[in-house]
Amino acid sequence: MIQRTIGQIAGMITIENDITSYSSEMIKGVSIDSRNISPGNLFIPFKGEQTDGHKYAESALESGAGAVLWQEDVPNPPGNGPVLIVKDTLLALQDLARAYRDELSAKVVGITGSNGKTTTKDITAAVLGETFRVQKTEGNFNNHIGLPLTILALEETTEIAILEMGMSSRGEISLLTKMARPDVAIITNIGEAHLLDLGSREAIAAAKFEIVEGLAPGGLFIYPGEEPLLQEKTASLRNIRLAAFGDSEDNEAYPMGIKMQERGTLFTASIYPEESLFLPIAGKHNVMNTLAALLAAKEFSVPARAVKTGLHSVKLSTMRMEWRNGMKGTVILNDSYNSSPTALRAVLGMLYHLDDQKDKIVVLGDMLELGEREKEFHEQIGEEIHPDKIKYVYTYGNLGKWIAKGARKHFPEGRVRAFDNQDELIRSLEQAITGSELIVVKASRGMKMEKVAEALSAAN
Ligand code: ATP
Ligand code: MG
Repeated sequence: MIQRTIGQIAGMITIENDITSYSSEMIKGVSIDSRNISPGNLFIPFKGEQTDGHKYAESALESGAGAVLWQEDVPNPPGNGPVLIVKDTLLALQDLARAYRDELSAKVVGITGSNGKTTTKDITAAVLGETFRVQKTEGNFNNHIGLPLTILALEETTEIAILEMGMSSRGEISLLTKMARPDVAIITNIGEAHLLDLGSREAIAAAKFEIVEGLAPGGLFIYPGEEPLLQEKTASLRNIRLAAFGDSEDNEAYPMGIKMQERGTLFTASIYPEESLFLPIAGKHNVMNTLAALLAAKEFSVPARAVKTGLHSVKLSTMRMEWRNGMKGTVILNDSYNSSPTALRAVLGMLYHLDDQKDKIVVLGDMLELGEREKEFHEQIGEEIHPDKIKYVYTYGNLGKWIAKGARKHFPEGRVRAFDNQDELIRSLEQAITGSELIVVKASRGMKMEKVAEALSAAN
C-alpha cells in the first residue's frame, strides 16, 4: 500500500491549505471507512447523499488515522490531527491513485467486459502468480472508488497488478483506464449487461472499448475475436498490439480438444500446446476467460508448466458457478450471483455439452436491468432451451415467467413450472427430484436465488 509522507502526498494532489507543520509525518494506506482505520491511514471522507463522511473524520483521527482529507466547502475541519483540504475528496482520491500508479514500476493488466471480469481477473492472477509477485482487485472493487483504492493498496514490490474495471455508463471506463494505465488491456465479452443504461450492444461495445484509451503505447489489447463489434473497432488502433481469443483458429488463442466435466474442463490451448490444462471451474465461457488470461501470461513469458499449475489453483468467489452436494444425492450448480442472456446461454451451452448421464433441471429467476425489451429477451431464452437436454424448467419472478412462456412453446406439458413464491418453488423442486439430477440455479443477484440453492443443499 501507499507509504508516503504528508508532504509527498500534498505534492501528488492539489492541496488548499498549509501543511508544512506536519509534512514529514508518514502516511500508510488509505481508508474511506472510519470504522476500519489502520494506524497511519489517510482517511478520505465523501459527501454522500445519505450521510456525509466528514462527520467521521474526527473519530478516524482518534482511531489512529495519520491524516484526513477534507472537502473545502464543508465547515469545521477537525482540530485533532493533520488535515489536507482539497476541492473535492473523490477527485483527490482519484488524483492520488493516478500519481501513485505513475510512481509504481508494476505492470498492469486491466480487465473489463460485460461478463466474466472477476472470473478472468482471478484466473489471470492464478496463471501469473506462479511466476510473479501479483496483486489483484479484491472482490468486485471495480468502480470509480474501488479502482483508486485498489491502486493505492498496491505494494511497491508488486510486479503485476490485475485490475478489474466495471461501468454502467459511457466515460467510466475511460476514467478508470487513464488512472490504471494498463500495459495489457482485456475485454472479456460484449453482452447485454447495462443495456438498460446504454441502449444498444453497439453502445456497450463502444463503452468497453474505452479501455484502450489508457493502454500504454505499444501495449497489448486482448479481445474476443469473434465479436464483430470489436473487430471493426480494432482496425482503427495504432501503436497497439492485438491478440484475439475465441473458438476459431483465426484467433491467436483458441481451445483444442475441450472435454467438459462436471467440476471443470480439460483442454489444450493453442498458445500453450505443450501442456494439457485443467481448469477447475466448469463452462465453455470459462475456457474463453482462461484463453484471455493465457494471452496475458504469454505476454509476460510465463512458462507452460507455471500456467498449468496456476490454473489448477483457481478458485472463484462464492455464488459464481459454485458446485454443491444437494439433497438426495443431487448436484447443485449455484450461479445466483448474476445473470444475463449471454451468461445464461453460456451456462445452458455448458449443460448441453456435459459429459454425464444426469438429468438437468434449470431454476431460473429474473435477469434484471435489460431495459425495454426485457420480456422479449426472457421469452427468447425460453424458446431456446432444449427439451431433449433439460428435464425441467423452473422459473421464479415476474420476468422469469416469460422464460416459462417461451419454453412452453416446445416443452411437453408439465415440464415447465413458473413460480412467484420461493417457498412454493422449493417445495415443488423437492418433490420433483429423485436424486440423479444436476440442478442449476441462476438469476440476477437481486432475486436472492442463493436461498433456493441453500434449501436444496445436502445437510452437512
Ligand atoms: P460484475 O459486473 O458483477 O462485476 P463480472 O463481469 O465480474 O460481473 P463474473 O463475476 O466473473 O462477471 O461472472 C458473472 C457471471 O457471468 C458468471 O457466473 C457466469 O455465469 C457469467 N460469465 C462469466 N464469464 C462469461 C463469459 N465469458 N461469457 C458469458 N458469460 C460469462
Ligand atoms: Mg466483477
